[in-house]
Amino acid sequence: MVEKLSQIGSSGPKITRRKTRSVRVGDLVIGSESHISVQSMCATKTQDIKATAGQIALLQEHGADIIRVAIDSRRDVEALVELRKGTSARLVVDLQESYKLAKSVAPYVQKIRYNPGHLYHHEKDTPVFEKVKYIVGVAREHDLALRVGVNFGSLDPAQAASGQDRFDVALESAREHIGYLEDLGFTNYVVSLKSSDPNDVMDINLRFSKQFPEIPLHLGVTEAGMLPLGEIKTRVAFENLLAQGIGDTLRVSLTLPYAEKFQEVLVAKKIIADVNAGRFRSVPRFEHDGLNIISCPSCSRVENEAFVDLAQQVRAMTQEFADKKLTIAVMGCRVNGPGETDDADLGLWCAPTHVNLKRGKELLGQFSYDEIIPRLKAEIDAVLSSRPSQA
Ligand code: SF4
Repeated sequence: MVEKLSQIGSSGPKITRRKTRSVRVGDLVIGSESHISVQSMCATKTQDIKATAGQIALLQEHGADIIRVAIDSRRDVEALVELRKGTSARLVVDLQESYKLAKSVAPYVQKIRYNPGHLYHHEKDTPVFEKVKYIVGVAREHDLALRVGVNFGSLDPAQAASGQDRFDVALESAREHIGYLEDLGFTNYVVSLKSSDPNDVMDINLRFSKQFPEIPLHLGVTEAGMLPLGEIKTRVAFENLLAQGIGDTLRVSLTLPYAEKFQEVLVAKKIIADVNAGRFRSVPRFEHDGLNIISCPSCSRVENEAFVDLAQQVRAMTQEFADKKLTIAVMGCRVNGPGETDDADLGLWCAPTHVNLKRGKELLGQFSYDEIIPRLKAEIDAVLSSRPSQA
């Protein structure tokens, strides 16, 4: 079954793809001349070499074409060196603020992802262009691909302050970085524009594809959450975009226990196979009137390993509110936690020993992992009773 599924993405394109450039990731090509590749990401702590090596093997065995690992420190780089000794998988490193780590990780990976929103934070006096130039220099020297990964939950603060809505800020951020890369004469890159809202993902990728038809797109609905809703949300965006020939590589982001992380790959391959066969299982747009739980897929940065349990407890506790129009975001760390919870009715994001609880943009407080579920329930009651129709 696994073997059969792993071949689907490469079984010859029946989807009429938009023509995009070829981007080389080791021996893999991303672009319309190649199959739609599938990516996933290790959720284990990168420095836990045994666990992360196991995670890489699990994802590779289930057909992941590219596997992402988070690197935030020198210790993570040392772990990466060890991981590389035990795997032939194509690895992509996710860099956040620490862009200078690009040089240290480059010999061990095929691709680097950077987030324009995070590049801003370190060395504030260094122009962003200089930081991009540094990363491009490393990518050239080691023949790596890059991904410019724009995320609605962590937009460039300087652009976000412009007063434009997040949709325009995200597009502007991508445009700016494409400008940098093209000015530097570097074309071996893909772009992603991700949001936890499938409608946003559809709309922004459509617009981007019209403006930059030749640039390969990495598709993703971030924080799609747990199954089955996580797959449904992802399908809405992917089925629509893939059917229009948009999307050259993709990742399904699901909140799953480590041992089940391979489900991300299987769901991705199932969606590609369905679109290839003309089987559409979703609706044109995501119109979800009931409870919507957004939760991140977790990664090495998760602040407490109780996160997946917490997300599952939130889902179980909130079943009684299934018919209420309520969005609850549950995030694993401070990277996307503060931003992605802003638009939710109630948001939780994990710290090592406590959980931050927000109502909209307001921080209500910090609660222990034991206290948070009853406290969240009380806040849900308060939100619902404050609505005129619920009174
Ligand atoms: S919110 Fe944090 S833990 Fe969750 S996927 Fe994003 S970076 Fe990883």
